[in-house]
Amino acid sequence: MARKVLVLAEIRDNALRNVTFEAIAAAKTVAEGGEVVGMLLSDRASNLASELIAYGADRVVTVEHDQLCHYTADGFGQAFLQVLEAEKPEGIIMGHTALGKDLAPKIAAKMELGLISDATAVEVVDEQVIFTRPIYSGKAFEKNSISDGIVFATIRPNNIPALVKDGTRTGEVSLFNVEIKDLRTIIKEIVRKTSEGVDLSEAKVIVAGGRGVKSADGFEPLKELAKVLGGAVGASRGACDAEYCDYSLQIGQTGKVVTPDLYIACGVSGAIQHLAGMSNSKVIVAINKDPEANIFPIADYGIVGDLFEVVPLLTEEFKKA
Ligand code: FAD
Repeated sequence: MARKVLVLAEIRDNALRNVTFEAIAAAKTVAEGGEVVGMLLSDRASNLASELIAYGADRVVTVEHDQLCHYTADGFGQAFLQVLEAEKPEGIIMGHTALGKDLAPKIAAKMELGLISDATAVEVVDEQVIFTRPIYSGKAFEKNSISDGIVFATIRPNNIPALVKDGTRTGEVSLFNVEIKDLRTIIKEIVRKTSEGVDLSEAKVIVAGGRGVKSADGFEPLKELAKVLGGAVGASRGACDAEYCDYSLQIGQTGKVVTPDLYIACGVSGAIQHLAGMSNSKVIVAINKDPEANIFPIADYGIVGDLFEVVPLLTEEFKKA
């Protein structure tokens, strides 16, 4: 059954986040040959529409409004609902990011729709769209489908591969006017902590430190390794609680959920709450001086040793590659 599927594009620092391209790929599957419509919500004319088309969108609706400069559930919600009303799609896909986690339930509640959140795969079986999603902190997977109404899902970053970019694709780009009023939240300014390097939630390689790094300075060899591998640095809550690093780096049940291609855990014991955030990584390497550490059974490669000896050696070897 051909469907029209709407994809919310996510913009950060004037660029599209990778999860947007992954959402387009998921939408292509859901559309079953129907139309994939990209939606850009921002405060100014954007030149990002052609990139959405290059990654598979058939058409792009751009919405420009002063109140869409920064994300607020209220402002984005109002704009989203007006586009929804006009487009009447049969499917909606967005990233399971901080924005998607906040906005999708709001839209679903307003429209009285079902929502499948945090999907890691999508397929169509007998004309039914089936999403796979992790449950019990990633220990099991369940398959869900929406049998009635709009097929609405958020997808976990780094799981559904984006389509190959094709700059020769063309598609219509139209401007859609919205009215945004009575906002309860107005963001005047966002002061961000300076973040070094790659965005943790979209990183292909993560080098994570636990309490075993012993100090803030102990993270330096991990940062060096991450830099050589083009990856990001993450942490256990143990390391964050000990004030070795910022909580924005925390991975786990109460931190970020990540699925990089390579996860290198250094001095992390492997508590269940940490595993909840990283156990679905494609390849896991654990470095721990305790051979009985819980991280080893879920690791693809384990190195029993002192991280302060092992990590610099790995960095030197990767530098040669
Ligand atoms: P530790 O358990 O102290 O482990 C340190 C490890 O480093 C040890 O295995 C040790 O052998 C090793 N080590 C020490 N020195 C070296 C060295 N020189 N070289 C190599 N290895 C070395 N935790 C999270 O991570 N994320 C969460 O989101 C999270 N949410 C939680 C939610 C709740 C409700 C609760 C109760 C807890 C949560 N926790 C979370 C905390 C979790 O239970 C653990 O306490 C925490 O993950 C431990 O962090 P750690 O592995 O860094 O520290």
